[in-house]
Amino acid sequence: MLSQFARVSLGHFPTPLEHLPRLSEHLGGPQVWVKRDDCTGLATGGNKTRKLEFSMADALEQGADTIVTVGAVQSNHVRQTAAAACKLGLACEVLLEHRVVDPSEPYANSGNVFLDRIFGANLREYPGGTDFDVAIDAVAREIKARGGKPYIIPGGASNTIGALGYVNCAIELLEQAEELGLRIDHLVTATGSAGTQAGLIVGLRAMGSDMPLLGIGVNAAQDAQEDKVYKLACETADFIGKPGIVAREDVIANCNYVGAGYGIPTEGMNEAILMLARLEGLLFDPVYSGKGLAGMIDLIRNSHFDAADNIVFLHTGGSAALFAYTDQLVT
Ligand SMILES: *Cc1c(COP(=O)(O)O)cnc(C)c1O
Repeated sequence: MLSQFARVSLGHFPTPLEHLPRLSEHLGGPQVWVKRDDCTGLATGGNKTRKLEFSMADALEQGADTIVTVGAVQSNHVRQTAAAACKLGLACEVLLEHRVVDPSEPYANSGNVFLDRIFGANLREYPGGTDFDVAIDAVAREIKARGGKPYIIPGGASNTIGALGYVNCAIELLEQAEELGLRIDHLVTATGSAGTQAGLIVGLRAMGSDMPLLGIGVNAAQDAQEDKVYKLACETADFIGKPGIVAREDVIANCNYVGAGYGIPTEGMNEAILMLARLEGLLFDPVYSGKGLAGMIDLIRNSHFDAADNIVFLHTGGSAALFAYTDQLVT
């Protein structure tokens, strides 16, 4: 379905689909499985690797020599983009947004931003709330003025090209479920810049699957998040030549687990990270997958799912960010 789109190889695919028997037993409800997109292999892994396989291929086709992208100080997207640029021999210019006010010393210097520096990305820092359309444009003009060829990847690589990575993930997951003889009743993922959820829903519907997909928000309120995902899903469906396959009611985001704001720890996130670590030996992250898990766990406890259901949680990665929270997570 995606063979007409250029793609470079950046990760290890397919990622494993694993049962979590100890977590399932502990929660006493449905069987929980995890799709291990934390194991994509690029610079500690994560969901941006799939998107970047398509974004970076487009950059190479356009003859770019410099990637320009944007993210929060602890952005997993920026870390994976910086690594991908190295692998492909491209320069990387990063606009870092100080979205978290009064950051702690590890938040400002460890975790993802430390890895960005190892990959030699050129980091430019901006205050929270900056108009990044304007700021990115200025950086692109500067690169052109010095004779370079910039290629802009939006935050989270969440445009139609990037979302192809998650169309692809949905296809991969359906194939794995068929091989295992596994009936998946619900797919759950953290949702932020929307490309993951949008790509997944397009991939599922394009394959004729009516599997319900639940996004757990980490940032915006429900209406804004669902609108953003639906808009990108419609554009992505058009882009792959299958307009109209996603209905508005296919796009569901539960935004009750954001807490005080993006990147700010919650008790549920803290509990979820310790639970998965101590029951299953798995690492999640404080900003995205940890809050996504907190939502899924709370919904299981409140009998939102049937006890006979099989739930797949998409592990979108991000454990590098744990090191930015050494003084905030309570162990
Ligand atoms: C970016 C990210 C997400 C959210 O994906 P979007 O496509 O931005 O919605 C979830 N988890 C992790 C670890 C991420 O880095």
